[in-house]
Amino acid sequence: MNNQDLLQQLASNPSCADDYDPNAMSVTQARQYIQQFLSPVQEIETIAIKQSLGRTLAVPITSAINVPGHNNSAMDGFAFRHAEAAQPLKIAGTALAGSPFTGSLPAGGCIKIMTGAVIPAGVDTVVMQEHTSTQGDIVTITKVPPPGANIRLAGEDIAMGQTVLAHGHQVQPADMGLLASLGIAEVQVYRRLKVAFFSTGDELVSVGKPLQTGQIYDSNRYSLWGMLQALGADTYDLGNVADDPDALENTLLQAAAEHDVVITSGGVSVGEADFMKQLLAKHGQVLFWKINMKPGRPLAYGKIGQSHYFGLPGNPVSTMVTFYQFVQEALKCLMGSSSTLVPSFRVECVTAIKKAPGRTEFQRGILFKEGSDWKVKTTGEQGSGILSSMSQANCFIVLDEQSGTIEAGSQVEVQPFYGIC
Ligand code: AMP
Ligand code: MG
Repeated sequence: MNNQDLLQQLASNPSCADDYDPNAMSVTQARQYIQQFLSPVQEIETIAIKQSLGRTLAVPITSAINVPGHNNSAMDGFAFRHAEAAQPLKIAGTALAGSPFTGSLPAGGCIKIMTGAVIPAGVDTVVMQEHTSTQGDIVTITKVPPPGANIRLAGEDIAMGQTVLAHGHQVQPADMGLLASLGIAEVQVYRRLKVAFFSTGDELVSVGKPLQTGQIYDSNRYSLWGMLQALGADTYDLGNVADDPDALENTLLQAAAEHDVVITSGGVSVGEADFMKQLLAKHGQVLFWKINMKPGRPLAYGKIGQSHYFGLPGNPVSTMVTFYQFVQEALKCLMGSSSTLVPSFRVECVTAIKKAPGRTEFQRGILFKEGSDWKVKTTGEQGSGILSSMSQANCFIVLDEQSGTIEAGSQVEVQPFYGIC
């Protein structure tokens, strides 16, 4: 059965697969199901390296040159023949970075050399200036280095023909410098993913308008915008749509026709789900899940035509948690990226956390430094509507399904929000 057929079958008859229970999906299972239905965009574009930050390489990069291109000095000092190290050496010339010594070196001679300068023909070793004494133009080596010392060899960083960046790699600042060091001005990358989103809910009001009783500002569109921009997607905000069948249908269909991915927030929880379900069942193959997680229990995933659809729960923290735990990985996959794993590590948690086994919890945490150790504490109140907890946090504390209450001082797994760049 191909993936499209499997999706169709699961959407129309959820009991068809043995291990598939849409009402009790683990986080891992849900990720695996989504993974099966993803294939990267195909279109490739050629862009200048300055435009390439965060973009995904569509072809591997190989080097056409050796880096460094020539044997060169790792030190300021003197280049000489090791066999002559014991005798006083006469300075026969100077080699600077970018200005090599091109003469021939007589017997008993040495070359004053600066870091990065090409090693002149005939010499085999460099001694650092601090290990010499100089009188006029005569140099005595006071501490003889081993033969070949202080010479960086041609190709020792990168050899000609070597693959330096793999297909699927996302370009980082160091890669931009690396590409330039190879003389490469342009790279081939996958085109940007087009991702549209809209909010659903009669109670939502856009910023800039006054609130009436019972209304709230639509915040999800802004956190979604930020998360999608950070991922490097072409982001389209389609506004907020009232809980009105015709308006939702029109927006959904247009969004799916024009974008690779459509994300909605709200309208997939119990009570509302039936309504969205009918709409999505009519136009696509969409799976509705209750995930064993907190926050972010309801989640919908599927296809509407060629477009991938994610229905996220409306509570602002749930929207962000489900985006980070499911959508981000999927979008990276669609962008052609080969690194979709989020780094996590274990640290001491200084706060006790009450938890019952049964669900994976993504608590909002603050990593902080105490003495020489990094530790974590929770942000406090963990309700799924408390968006300030996400704003204060710099990591998720991930408590797996089996785990019960955490005592203060225990080790917990954390996923940091930010690294060095
Ligand atoms: P729902 O998933 O539609 O049942 O919404 C769950 C809760 O999240 C409700 O309290 C909604 O008012 C709230 N909510 C839904 N969408 C948004 C949004 N875009 N911005 C802020 N809160 C929202
Ligand atoms: Mg709603």
